[in-house]
Amino acid sequence: MNDVSRSFRGNSNAARDIAHHLHPYTNFKKHEATGPLTIVRGRGVYVMDDDGKEYIEGMAGLWSAALGFSNERLATVAYEQMKQLPFYHAFNQRSHEPAINLAEKLKAMAPVPMSKVFFANSGSEANDTVVKMVWYVNNALGRPHKKKIISRIKGYHGVTVAAASLTGLPNNHRSFDLPIANILHTSCPHYYRFGKDGETEEQFATRCAEELEQLILKEGGAEHVAAMICEPVMGAGGVIVPPKGYYEKIQAVCRKYDMLFIADEVICGFGRTGNVWGCQTLNIQPDILTCAKALSASFLPISAVMVNDKVYQALATESDKIGTWGHGFTYSGHPVAAAVALETQKIYDEIDLFGHAKRLSPVFQKHVASFADHPLVGEAMSVGMVGALEIVADKKTKAPFDPVAVGAGNRVYNHAVQHGLFIRNMGDRVAICPPLIINEAELADLFGRLRKAFDETLADLRSEGHF
Ligand code: PMP
Repeated sequence: MNDVSRSFRGNSNAARDIAHHLHPYTNFKKHEATGPLTIVRGRGVYVMDDDGKEYIEGMAGLWSAALGFSNERLATVAYEQMKQLPFYHAFNQRSHEPAINLAEKLKAMAPVPMSKVFFANSGSEANDTVVKMVWYVNNALGRPHKKKIISRIKGYHGVTVAAASLTGLPNNHRSFDLPIANILHTSCPHYYRFGKDGETEEQFATRCAEELEQLILKEGGAEHVAAMICEPVMGAGGVIVPPKGYYEKIQAVCRKYDMLFIADEVICGFGRTGNVWGCQTLNIQPDILTCAKALSASFLPISAVMVNDKVYQALATESDKIGTWGHGFTYSGHPVAAAVALETQKIYDEIDLFGHAKRLSPVFQKHVASFADHPLVGEAMSVGMVGALEIVADKKTKAPFDPVAVGAGNRVYNHAVQHGLFIRNMGDRVAICPPLIINEAELADLFGRLRKAFDETLADLRSEGHF
């Protein structure tokens, strides 16, 4: 994690946090030494810490708070739903209106015809559900060996046991004894890093599809390989937009081996890539689609799994044979979360948030592209309203800095925090993913602060002889 140098002594939140709170994604020893940065309130695209300092939330929290950090309507809807029916479940044929309404709305929005919507509480739970669905479906279809699921190196699908296995990042496997069996990883479609000398983007996309097919054949072909899961644009792996034609090619391979195609829209869904779904931006026709985060603008935890009729019919057959689909969470489709998600979608429609994001995308992308001539930036990549800047030691050779001795990405992060800006660095790849409600002036402010962070990092690296 990043090292924001601030004194926590005398700050009671920080001392109590260190004493009591075990954090997600944190180096605990470092946390004991430096303490947390505690956020106490939000307003629009800004959040404020407990020292009163304001930050532009350039990551929409965790790629998720599409409406920013204050919205009266969502607060009111949550309050009203809590008064009417604070909790009910959907097990054993029970139901409630918020879940019915939200399922209906999501189906109407889906990028391809979908049959049913299953609810969970997080992206991880949604993707874990999908792994079980794929296995269940193939048992239903009398294909007991067709159980292997392919995801990609650098893909991110969550942290529960199956979802973390799908994730293709070392920190999610190392020391956790993961991945589990039947989960495989194919090539990452990052042309800048993995394209070979002289290879065009198109040739690179073709090679990715060939490597996928080789993996399928090595693992037993159609009899053993059941599905592939992809984020349309990889998020936590570094904001990686695959080259043109990539999805056409890999979906053709999946069809050839009778595999289900799963789109993980947890980040891309709800306007992030310039269309409602990443599937629309990248030309993907999924059998199963998962979403979360901006589903409720992150005001409450909720996620969804949409399945097409082919998948639903198999699930239905097997559940009838066994007696039940033995899967579901206490809070699947929680009425308050579902009511807030539905209201979120109404707000998106009323303020034309997706249209706003599409219109603002060229401005956002121009800002990202303007960093291409910065001495530290090797790649400036963006789509819709999400982008990344890759820091390199040598633009020609694309050689990175030493991640430990230099830690260039961490430095940019720390300088940005000093300037009241939250971005995220995945190693030396710096991501920007602001709330979709952001306006042009706020975007200019965001990128102005980021420019300062890059310039100060450059000055540090020069003065220390790293550059
Ligand atoms: N899929 C993707 C594409 C994600 O980005 C994330 C979270 N960043 C997840 C799944 C997991 O979601 P959660 O953290 O809600 O479990």
